[in-house]
Amino acid sequence: MLKNSSEIDITRVTQSKIKDVDFENLTFGNVFTDHMLICDYKEGKWQKPIIKPYEPFLIDPSAKVFHYGQAIFEGMKAYKDENDDVWLFRPDQNLDRFNKSAIRLAMPEISEHIFIDGLKTLVDMERDWVKKGLGNTLYIRPFMIAIGSGVIAQPSTQYRFMIILSPARSYYSGEVKVTIAEHFSRAANGGIGAAKAAGNYSAQFYPQKLAQEQGFQQIIWTDDATHTKLEEAGTMNVFFRINDTIYTAPVSERILDGVTRKSLIELAKREGIKVEERSVLVDELVVAAKDGSLKEIFGAGTAAVVSPIVGFQYKETYYELPKTEDSIALQLKDKLTKIQYKLAEDTFGWTV
Ligand code: PMP
Repeated sequence: MLKNSSEIDITRVTQSKIKDVDFENLTFGNVFTDHMLICDYKEGKWQKPIIKPYEPFLIDPSAKVFHYGQAIFEGMKAYKDENDDVWLFRPDQNLDRFNKSAIRLAMPEISEHIFIDGLKTLVDMERDWVKKGLGNTLYIRPFMIAIGSGVIAQPSTQYRFMIILSPARSYYSGEVKVTIAEHFSRAANGGIGAAKAAGNYSAQFYPQKLAQEQGFQQIIWTDDATHTKLEEAGTMNVFFRINDTIYTAPVSERILDGVTRKSLIELAKREGIKVEERSVLVDELVVAAKDGSLKEIFGAGTAAVVSPIVGFQYKETYYELPKTEDSIALQLKDKLTKIQYKLAEDTFGWTV
């Protein structure tokens, strides 16, 4: 936490809006807490962070974020345990990834002091917004935008870092069917796929819409050069269970280094589940689906933790997965969630 008030300027709301919020019926990412954190970068350095009431702000219409998409973000969560203590999960990993994204987008890196200490101060002020009980979380959205004005296509000299918070409930997304990308790509070698850059997400909206029109909730992205290697599922990392081994693509320039992905790998190893970080080929998946050795496919990410996939389409054929009694996906989800909510001992030291 920031050590004294001179390190952060805090203006509180006169009245909280929490009593108007229906915590039983939250749509993901629509309601925000009372306060937000803002820290501006100008003249080559980060200014003093401020926490103030959540509200819109003005930016010049020529700001680079609007024209060139110089924008990055993170997604993380806070959890409340049975003793009303509030916990973050591996925030150092999000800071690390944020700064890697910043470098790739020619934006300034941010200090642990502003990102982590600022976040702890903000979450501490909003702890009433974090509800107890499995599945209740406070979704945390840190982001940075280029606010310098001028439509010349070059990096901005002014930036705004912000953190906003949104209460969320775990959601059941229904059955997830996926289609394997044969034409569109999420990322390319030398591109920005490994960064959490805003443009990566807008570029997915159109192929995602086409997939949804055909009845698929997600796309499994393949490598851009050959479309033969399975890489990510929508905005999640993806795991395949063939017989009793789980496989996931190694992180690369095209794949986001997911915090859930790396945590599941470590958990699986501890549980004695065989894990291999290697690319699974589309052909291999089709063969495994046909001979029955493909047992599970699941996405992994902060929002849904683990999202089981019931079947996939490839070249006009739909392959349905068998029902599993001993789902590794659900077993790992259970173990990870228990650590996040402090219902199980955190031997990894992930909770903060
Ligand atoms: N891949 C992509 C493209 C994502 O946007 C996300 C969500 N951040 C993930 C994977 C999962 O990452 P994490 O487990 O850190 O949420």
